[in-house]
Amino acid sequence: MDHFAYRNGELYAEDVPLSRIAAEIGTPFFCYSTATLQHHYRVFTGAFSGVDAAFCYAVKANANLAVIRTLAEMGAGADVVSAGELERALAAGVAPAQIVFSGVGKSREELSHALDKNIGQFNVESSAELDLLSDIAASKGLTAQIAVRVNPDVDADTHEKISTGRHQDKFGIPWPAAREDYARAKVLPGIEVVGVAAHIGSQITSLAPFDAAFTKIVGIVDQLRHDGHDIRRLDLGGGLGIPYEGETPPTPSEYAEMVKRVTAAVDCELVFEPGRVIVGNAGVLVSRVLYIKESAGHTFTVLDAAMNDLLRPSLYDAHHAIVPVRESAADTDFHPTDIVGPICESGDVFAHGRPMPPLVTDDLLVIRTAGAYGAVMSSNYNSRPLAAEVLVNGDIFEIVRRHQTNEEMLALEEMPSWFDDRNVSRTRGVA
Ligand SMILES: *Cc1c(COP(=O)(O)O)cnc(C)c1O
Repeated sequence: MDHFAYRNGELYAEDVPLSRIAAEIGTPFFCYSTATLQHHYRVFTGAFSGVDAAFCYAVKANANLAVIRTLAEMGAGADVVSAGELERALAAGVAPAQIVFSGVGKSREELSHALDKNIGQFNVESSAELDLLSDIAASKGLTAQIAVRVNPDVDADTHEKISTGRHQDKFGIPWPAAREDYARAKVLPGIEVVGVAAHIGSQITSLAPFDAAFTKIVGIVDQLRHDGHDIRRLDLGGGLGIPYEGETPPTPSEYAEMVKRVTAAVDCELVFEPGRVIVGNAGVLVSRVLYIKESAGHTFTVLDAAMNDLLRPSLYDAHHAIVPVRESAADTDFHPTDIVGPICESGDVFAHGRPMPPLVTDDLLVIRTAGAYGAVMSSNYNSRPLAAEVLVNGDIFEIVRRHQTNEEMLALEEMPSWFDDRNVSRTRGVA
């Protein structure tokens, strides 16, 4: 369910026509819907009503401050994977105690920073990280609350690049090796064991891998308690899939029923780290047709958005629905076209042979389900400025990240001193 729908022959985000935003701010831009974000958050958390549970939104899915704030206002915590994401969560108003720090490569500086901010939980992913965290915490006279991220060796049956819970994936510590880390954690200074964590992958569209992984983890909780650890939090990660192309992932309530069944006897606070399921279809990427190009029997629709704006089709062969802002008449003939961006890469393709209504230059196209792993993965490749992000709320919209300028793209760079500044048009400092 989302709040992007046709009205009076054109696509709206809630009560705002996308054409109006395009006319005011230019394309390409991401557009997010507040009502959709709130709806998904409510449905997901509501499925666990009556359960002792915390919801730490996975910031990496969509890190825009206004998006995080929208969820934080509804009570969400945050799952972060870098100091940058930690700063975003804090800036958006998430309480430090509601922040979980995940990630296989947290640096000394990041651990130190997170300790200073007094975050709620570190999900430790290696023995070496455990030692480092202990060192830093002890030297500061602080205590880190930790869970070990256990790799349950379960195949999430998702895209190779977003599977994280198999023994060959880099994430987590396998069992029983993790048992030794728990034993060490118990005696290391500056460390307090509070739980167990798992996250087996993303865009998971059936319950079976979750069920298998959580069943293993619940067994592990028993063994750890037997070893004398006070396990009071069970962090089950994120990963619930969404429909991009006719998939039928479990609903949040089906997912919750399974979780309740598997964890019925465990007596822990449950922690969830949903990302995609909250923000995925709360966002679209709006783009303009630059050219229609006929070539060797092929039609190419060249957009002003590209793989630097939305990488998923190039990176994961991901399917995104693409629709025109102007609604097609019921009797319109659709013809296949390759929908591509302007980047100098053959892989800069949003869709191959996609049936589309007749299109002309300046038509607006909307790439749907772009709210998760969209803007966060964008880059400046081909020196294309970052696209704007807009948040709609009822009948108003506001820019929540403006279009980057060419100036801003250049601003981080310096000419080395050995070039004569007078020959360089863009100089800094000395004349
Ligand atoms: C990416 C990630 C998530 C969120 O995954 P989704 O598929 O977006 O729900 C949660 N936890 C961890 C540790 C992650 O790396």
